[in-house]
Amino acid sequence: MQQEFKASIDRALHNANLTGALGKFSEAYKVNRAKAYEGIDFEALRSRIAELKGYAASHLQELSDLFQKNAEAKGAKVFRTTDPAKVREYILKVAQDNGVKSIVKSKSMATEEIHLNPFLEKAGIEVNETDLGEWIIQLAGQTPSHMVMPAIHMTKEEVADLFSKEVDERLTSDIPRLVKVARGEMRPKFLKADMGISGGNIAVAETGSIALVTNEGNARLVTSLPKIHIAVVGIEKLVAKFSDIAPILKALPRSATAQLLTSYVSIISGPTPNSDGSMKELHIILMDNHRSEMAADPMFKEAMQCIRCASCLNVCPIFRLVGGHVFGKVYTGGIGTILTAWHDELKSSEDIQGLCIQCGACKDVCPGKIDIPGLIMEIRRRLVKEQGVPFVQKSIYAVVNNRRMFHGMLRAASLAAKPFAKGTKFIRHLPMFLADLTDGRSLPAIASKPFRDVFKTIHQPKGLQEKAVFYAGCLIDFAYPEMGEALVKILNKAGIEVLFPEGQTCCGAPARYNGAYEVAANNAVDNIKALLADRADYVISACPTCTVALDHEFVTTFESLGQRKWLPQARELAAKTIDFSTLVKKLVDEGRLTLKEGRQLGKITYHDSCHLKRTLHADQPPRELLQKAGYELAEMFECDICCGMGGSYSLKLPEISAPILQRKLKNIKDTGAPVVAMDCPGCVMQIRGGMDQDGAGVKVHHTVELLADQLED
Ligand code: SF4
Ligand code: SF4
Repeated sequence: MQQEFKASIDRALHNANLTGALGKFSEAYKVNRAKAYEGIDFEALRSRIAELKGYAASHLQELSDLFQKNAEAKGAKVFRTTDPAKVREYILKVAQDNGVKSIVKSKSMATEEIHLNPFLEKAGIEVNETDLGEWIIQLAGQTPSHMVMPAIHMTKEEVADLFSKEVDERLTSDIPRLVKVARGEMRPKFLKADMGISGGNIAVAETGSIALVTNEGNARLVTSLPKIHIAVVGIEKLVAKFSDIAPILKALPRSATAQLLTSYVSIISGPTPNSDGSMKELHIILMDNHRSEMAADPMFKEAMQCIRCASCLNVCPIFRLVGGHVFGKVYTGGIGTILTAWHDELKSSEDIQGLCIQCGACKDVCPGKIDIPGLIMEIRRRLVKEQGVPFVQKSIYAVVNNRRMFHGMLRAASLAAKPFAKGTKFIRHLPMFLADLTDGRSLPAIASKPFRDVFKTIHQPKGLQEKAVFYAGCLIDFAYPEMGEALVKILNKAGIEVLFPEGQTCCGAPARYNGAYEVAANNAVDNIKALLADRADYVISACPTCTVALDHEFVTTFESLGQRKWLPQARELAAKTIDFSTLVKKLVDEGRLTLKEGRQLGKITYHDSCHLKRTLHADQPPRELLQKAGYELAEMFECDICCGMGGSYSLKLPEISAPILQRKLKNIKDTGAPVVAMDCPGCVMQIRGGMDQDGAGVKVHHTVELLADQLED
């Protein structure tokens, strides 16, 4: 990563105002959004939006033609271009032809995208933003940090300072007073403006109309007071029918600001008369800027379904820590990473794509049904394809792709790490440049005997009817073999014999999440050969990341690379794969496994691992099993927010991972539960290591360990 990028992360993390404001907002947002969607079938709504926007993305040319025809028939002038420079020149020409000296603008990300304001100001035209947030950042000389709330990173005190300078009067941070000052300053600007520039939330081909959605009413003044109105609209805003507006309007305010309705919805269909009776000039610019290329890409086409609500930013654990400015360009957060890669160039996303921890929280709430983390992974894959794998990673992958060497090195590491573990199960300090890795979190000591050796010493009952192949994954195999032993004990009790094929190796997730799909594909082939060699009823894993690899990602990795040879076997493996808690819940429900009942084991809280909850949708089975075993479940605040582990993320960006972990530890401790359970050994590593350094004494366990102790004899 570039030094400057790392420095910007550091600045953001040390900006208490920024992290405080975003943290508070995101906590309240989650609750308020849920309330705003009460009684609405969100899945149905977003499927409808995805369908209508997906249709538009497949018919861009046709809808643009129709929009132009219908808007021009109503008296608008429509200008279409792929080139941002031509948009700027067109606006300047209209301004110069009409002697425009002053412009008022309502919030428009499209004009931010083409850096319109400095261009017009350089030509001697005064440009005034009229959305309160946009005006604040204009005065501060900054760019928006959030698509919907551009000045969310600033405190009211900072705003008071800015306004004080502007009006030459010492103002306090009293918000109603500041709003009054802004209104007072804005009115004369509206009245003297010769031109208004807006964006457009929706462009309807059927009627040639544009819809504008605002909370402050400023867009109405921008579009109606000056004699000339120019709307700059990205072609992703096109929809076919007027009725397509309804689902978007239902989702946009709820997703953006958790409101049931936005205060002002304006639909502009052709120019309207001015107060002197003359007709207004209405120009609509349909701007492409690589959008049609994105729509033509089979994977990235779905990014055209974005309605620019920013809910993906509001729920992102990384965004709420570092804010928008570290993303550098106009668009921020996960979707901003994708848009930057297209509107700018792939290389521009090189650093910022690394910010995504792949937790999937954004995908869950996106009303456009966009797989944001999936597209960021695709960006990583394309970057690796374009630029190759960095030398250090290449050496690591060479080892990971050679199972014997990889496992041999892990065994050797067990010995090498012994001095740092000092006889405990933790490595609490590492020397020199590795010190960051144990900052706020101890690491697990590598087991002296990996599970693959322990397994050979386990005596399973004879004559068990069913067979399950156990895929341990690197962490259970080499750091937590006791979890593997617990799993064997439970399955044996249910009459299932456990098989452990020695040929299994890394699931490929670390390589895949870094874009090295070829490496991940090699891992997939090795694992397919090993795991399908025995005829078994199930392939079970107690690591959700590994389960997702076996269940989804082997197939998608081969598909992305166009490799067909191993696809049928990858699908066969996927069909047999099941996560630990789901299988155990099934066995309990079928009466094949009995937990000791009627015991009172006390309070427990549960941390949702991202992959278990969001990809495997298996967040309830572990809760039900733990309660059945006699635990009293005390849900923690934000139980499904990432713990900051993210595989190699916590090693690459420990400065981001550490504060996320601290928040998680606080939420766990606030429940008062002496035990926290989870289904992922990676989360155990992160949270157990954090608790070790925190000293709070909360026990951290994988569900498998807790259930193994509660089996009926
Ligand atoms: S990607 Fe989805 S959540 Fe993010 S701004 Fe677009 S529509 Fe909203
Ligand atoms: S997957 Fe998680 S970290 Fe990545 S952009 Fe989405 S919310 Fe943010």
